[in-house]
Amino acid sequence: MPRRLDAPLLLAHSSHPLMIYADYNATTPCDRQIAERMLEVHCDSFANPSNRTSLAGRNARGLIDTARQQLATAVGAHPDEFIFTSGATEASNTIIYGVMQRLMATRPRILLSSIEHPAVQMPVDYCVQSGAEGLSIKGDRQGRLDLAQLQQALSEKPTALVCVMAANNETGVLQDIPEVVRISHAAGALVFSDMTQLLGKAPIDLHHSGVDFACFSAHKCYGPKGVGAFYKRRGLALSPLLRGGGQEAGLRSGTENVAGIMGFGMAADLASREGQQRQSHLRGLTELLENQLRSQLPGVIIHSSEAERMPGTSMCSLPGLRGKWLSQLPGIIASSGSACASLQGKASHVLLEMGVDEKTALHSVRISLGKSTTEAEVHKIAAQMCAGAQKLLQS
Ligand code: PLP
Repeated sequence: MPRRLDAPLLLAHSSHPLMIYADYNATTPCDRQIAERMLEVHCDSFANPSNRTSLAGRNARGLIDTARQQLATAVGAHPDEFIFTSGATEASNTIIYGVMQRLMATRPRILLSSIEHPAVQMPVDYCVQSGAEGLSIKGDRQGRLDLAQLQQALSEKPTALVCVMAANNETGVLQDIPEVVRISHAAGALVFSDMTQLLGKAPIDLHHSGVDFACFSAHKCYGPKGVGAFYKRRGLALSPLLRGGGQEAGLRSGTENVAGIMGFGMAADLASREGQQRQSHLRGLTELLENQLRSQLPGVIIHSSEAERMPGTSMCSLPGLRGKWLSQLPGIIASSGSACASLQGKASHVLLEMGVDEKTALHSVRISLGKSTTEAEVHKIAAQMCAGAQKLLQS
């Protein structure tokens, strides 16, 4: 018998009564209206947008143009500054390789914060294997980048690119991107900021921030998986990663994912319109969760809580647990850090970089809430976390 699509195992959504979804930083459910509109596009508006001689092709092109405008409006930039990709990973790879290919001869050096997502860390590592110099800039115990160390490093040698994520996916800590830009530009370096987690959770104004490059992903903000984009400030040159038919201004060849791009545009538009409401909702729920944990679990650590954070993310540790906290949270879908670290059963490199000991880091739990999370769910999450921790303290 075919398996029902809404069977509990498959439905990782907070509206299901049996499961509470608290892993929104890993991915969000695709907004139903967006998914339905995407289905129509897949089935009815399927013409190739490169076919400009047919009305159907021009209609498909129009959907992409609208999406580019929606994204640009949501994040404060011009539409022609965005290139659609298959996600943030492809976007960041394109930026890092594309910049280094052009600047390797004159400025063979990249600086990056030590808490970057693997989608940034790995392409930088690859550039290092190919002869570039890479230098990781540390942060403090709250995960805030050490700007003095960045400035010092920039003064030592010509640097092509500085990579600093705007919001960390594990702790939610926000970096002072305009200041990173000011320091880096003064030294002649370009700045790339991974803003994947920020869209829809905090306001973004790319032109105001001054960054040269940024990346985004639709599935982190209620859009579909497999579509993202990068921002490239007007006038900057970049070598493409994918060469072929010359789509996306020659910077990302391949027939466009029209339905996905349209869905991303709709998600960005939703983020603009619902932004303030989402942020205050998430702020309230985060405060509720953390207050409950603090009052019921003496010694609990909420990482980066003394720094500015995006709302909705609580990375929690309790020193002394004998076992994985996450394994004691039946009925709750959360994680112990980034999806990549969880996959490999490793402690979060972000927490390790922040000076957390390996055992505590390994037993940490990240709760990330979303726009459909309710107060009742937060109460249940807090109660489960307290009960699970007590068990692990006594075992
Ligand atoms: N950057 C950050 C901060 C992320 O959280 C993620 C996803 O987990 C990515 C990049 C990669 O995004 P994508 O899944 O669209 O490739």
